[in-house]
Amino acid sequence: MLGATPIQSEHVIIVGAGPCGLAAALALQQLNLHPLIIESRNIVHSISQYPVYMRFFSTPELLEIGGIPFTTSGDKPTRQEALAYYRTVMLRHNIRMNAYETVTQVEREAGGTFLVHSTERSGITNLYRCDRVVVATGYFDHPNTLGIPGEELDKVSHFFREAHPYTRMKVAIIGGSNSAIDAALELERVGAEVTVIYRGEGYASGIKPWVLPLFESLVNKGRIRMLFRSRVVHIEPASVTIENEEGEEKLPNDFVLALTGFHPDREFLTGIGVTLEEDGSPTFNESTMETNVPGVYLAGVVASRKQANEVFIETGRYHGQWIANHIAIQMEEKPAR
Ligand code: NAP
Repeated sequence: MLGATPIQSEHVIIVGAGPCGLAAALALQQLNLHPLIIESRNIVHSISQYPVYMRFFSTPELLEIGGIPFTTSGDKPTRQEALAYYRTVMLRHNIRMNAYETVTQVEREAGGTFLVHSTERSGITNLYRCDRVVVATGYFDHPNTLGIPGEELDKVSHFFREAHPYTRMKVAIIGGSNSAIDAALELERVGAEVTVIYRGEGYASGIKPWVLPLFESLVNKGRIRMLFRSRVVHIEPASVTIENEEGEEKLPNDFVLALTGFHPDREFLTGIGVTLEEDGSPTFNESTMETNVPGVYLAGVVASRKQANEVFIETGRYHGQWIANHIAIQMEEKPAR
């Protein structure tokens, strides 16, 4: 039919080229399925957006995928080393990936196959028919928003990249977890006037034990201001309004870093027919990672329950192998086309 988008046939399409999507691709390659990854940006985009000088908390062997060694100069990999590792794995293992292509819809067909619709950056649309879909979309695209007036101002960001632009600026950091603490330490070093505003009663238990003493000492010296049991209730162009048990305080302010964590996009899943449990997490089998929609699998943080941070690279990298094991059993019963 003139003008109709041709349909490309695939066995497995993986949505997302993060470490867990890549790990799934490697595991499926072992079954000779040669999956296609479709990625809206480029490989491990989230890691490329991490703070520029970040060093992982995990040691390199815990970030390895497909059993491919990851060696680093120090005991923990830097962001740069992780980017190089995942990129090299993809290139050397010929993982098929379409970058800058966004999956817009996944339709289930009567016979159990899927029609995957996508759009390239140029606007060109593509259509694929596949037997299985692995959703590995991560969570970094979806920061937890505050829902307060002023959050939309240009001076507010949910991401911290590097400290230099904040030199001598008055910066309010919202949140009291690792991103907030790390950013505060970097900002203090460039002479920013940092206030950390956290709703918790005291330091969160998840803060890395080797980081906390350094932070606390700067708080004790008055070089970082730490407010517990406090919330920012309004962000104004030149100030922020904080509320706590003592009442309201208006602080002069140049920039706000709302480092309030992330959540996976569940709408994409429900659009495919995946149902959600009472706690909002998707319905799936924890041994096979298959959802209630046969042939649709989850890999990585998209499979987290109530706590988004319960799945991270260290744990999510195994999901692909469990998916491959399940598909292998099915292929024994019914060989692939
Ligand atoms: P996070 O651990 O999810 O922490 C989010 C923080 O924001 C918490 O303190 C939370 O308070 C607060 N928060 C959430 N919603 C809020 C709201 N509506 N209003 C006020 N405060 C709110 O996020 P993260 O620190 O970005 O860390 C994300 C993941 O990255 C974690 O697994 C972390 O360990 C990891 N990380 C790794 C490195 C590294 O490897 N170097 C560095 C940084 C982070 P509550 O505590 O009250 O919930």
